[in-house]
Amino acid sequence: MDAVRTIALSCVFTLVTQASFGQATPDTANIPQPHLARSRAEAFQDNNWKFPALITCYPNEGQPAEKVIKDPGPAKAADNFYFLGDGIVAAWAVDTPGGIILIDTLNNKEEADKYIIAGLQKLGLDPARIKTIIVSHGHGDHYGGARYLQDKYGAKVYMTALDSDFMEKNAGRNPVWGPPPRRDQVAMDGQTVTLGDIGIKLFITAGHTPASLSLLIPVKDKGRVRTLLYLGGITNKGLTAEMHSAYDQWTTRLLAVSAEQKPEGVIGNHSSYDEAATKIEKLRARPEGANPFFTGPASTLRYLRVLKECNLNNAEIERAQRK
Ligand SMILES: [Zn+2]
Repeated sequence: MDAVRTIALSCVFTLVTQASFGQATPDTANIPQPHLARSRAEAFQDNNWKFPALITCYPNEGQPAEKVIKDPGPAKAADNFYFLGDGIVAAWAVDTPGGIILIDTLNNKEEADKYIIAGLQKLGLDPARIKTIIVSHGHGDHYGGARYLQDKYGAKVYMTALDSDFMEKNAGRNPVWGPPPRRDQVAMDGQTVTLGDIGIKLFITAGHTPASLSLLIPVKDKGRVRTLLYLGGITNKGLTAEMHSAYDQWTTRLLAVSAEQKPEGVIGNHSSYDEAATKIEKLRARPEGANPFFTGPASTLRYLRVLKECNLNNAEIERAQRK
């Protein structure tokens, strides 16, 4: 593990091993955890302990993510939807007739060159067509390449006002992160960002940061429009009571939105939370088969319910530990 990759793990928890599941750590042994039991009951209906949202319930232990998730390389995840991250952090691109919408920009210029620009070229897409960049939140592993791409291609950059403040306040905290992008488009809750024939709906989902963004992204899969729910701030440990409460509110809200709109899968900005690398491998092995990114509306709701219960559980543990 080199230094850069170690630092890159700024907002993703390491994967937990199976052995760590279900074991209370010494400092939580005497704290009742009813929400943990509920989240596990949900996860067990789907994919047992491997259900990725369940990671948010457990302590930061086990193997570092990069030891178990190798770089998948640039990949086509659906007809017009592309993965451009490494094995840890994701950037996604939606290709439209009006240009490319890029979601997140990795740590810095070097990573933007290596994974985003070269990645698009390998996939047969022209990076100069990046017209719109949506930055999910104000941590440098997501905004670090944005200034470079903004300068190079003149792309519009969308970010929430609160996370722009947060980003600028913390810029330079980590030497790996590129400089913040210049303030451009203020992303608003409920707004639809449109390019070409694609409209991406934005939701402010506070908690991980003051105003992370989550998205409903309509992509095409084998010619059919199918919606994915992108979650822009998944981890929920070590938050203030107010942030835990904000997180609870957005999970409740997105459960209602998802019950109505029925997004067919969850994606995120770290591979440990959406298993993107594994899904890409499956897709490469069987391109004609069912696309593994679309796990179904029931699985999407389950993902959100697990996040909700894990957040409530972490809030209770942290409250008890503060006493
Ligand atoms: Zn983060």
